[in-house]
Amino acid sequence: MLKKIFYILKPFIPRKLQLILRRKLIVSKLPKYKDIWPVLKGSEKKPEYFKGWPEGKQFAFVLTHDVEHKRGYDRVIRLMELEKKLGFVSSFTFVPERDYKVEKELLDTLRANNFDYGVHGLYHDGKLFSSETEFLERAKKINSYLKEWNTRGFRAPAMHHNLDWIGALEIDYDMSTFDTDPFEPQPDGVGTIFPFWVENKRNKSGGYIELPYTLPQDFTPFVLIKESSPKIWIDKLNWIAQNNGMVLVNVHPDYIDFESSRKSYEEFDVKIYIEFLEYVNTNYEGKYWNALPKDVAGFWKSLLH
Ligand SMILES: [Zn+2]
Repeated sequence: MLKKIFYILKPFIPRKLQLILRRKLIVSKLPKYKDIWPVLKGSEKKPEYFKGWPEGKQFAFVLTHDVEHKRGYDRVIRLMELEKKLGFVSSFTFVPERDYKVEKELLDTLRANNFDYGVHGLYHDGKLFSSETEFLERAKKINSYLKEWNTRGFRAPAMHHNLDWIGALEIDYDMSTFDTDPFEPQPDGVGTIFPFWVENKRNKSGGYIELPYTLPQDFTPFVLIKESSPKIWIDKLNWIAQNNGMVLVNVHPDYIDFESSRKSYEEFDVKIYIEFLEYVNTNYEGKYWNALPKDVAGFWKSLLH
């Protein structure tokens, strides 16, 4: 009830006050959700056709980044360089029509460095899934961006999802879901830490791979709850690794405080992210498959067909 009122009033509440209210709401809910978040029991059940990751790796490790505004867009190369230096690759998703212009040169730079990218909605106005007609209308434009950018990967804004409708996109994979996350506006999780196939109901021969995110979104623990270490990510990663699952995290360059300046209440210290990546390097050297979403999707599809 409180949550409903909050989302109705949201456009009229100043941003800072919104965050304070959301923080209160989340902290009050933590005890109630302790059995379903961040770990949902049962989500570790392996699909029977899955016999392990390529090269016998213990788990898949997928880094993704939604680029929300110009602030984040201007930090893309910096984030890429940081990950590259630590020996990782990742994939960025961009909003085609918002407050930044997606330059072909930037997309090419990502690919030239073995990084990747996909499409993140269309306008990011919260209305992509308002009706099927609206979705299909926008899907035409999204498909033209997918083609123009030469990518077949998608993630919807705010993790809104209707997997049947998403089938209208010309994609190999979608990342608009999560194993478990009661704090999302559309909180129905898919209940698995593994990818899965979504058959296209419009065109029986087609379909796509769904890649749910499986670590909490950065915003919840580090901006809202204000945790100062990556412990919540590390604990969940250890659990997924034990269960040979897919670690998929969404880290927003918009929220990363690269200078550790603590100037913005909407950003978290870059040191948290670095500490997390270094933990993975140190504790699981040679044991994880750091793959791009398109590679995981390709691998998973090969298991099915
Ligand atoms: Zn977004």
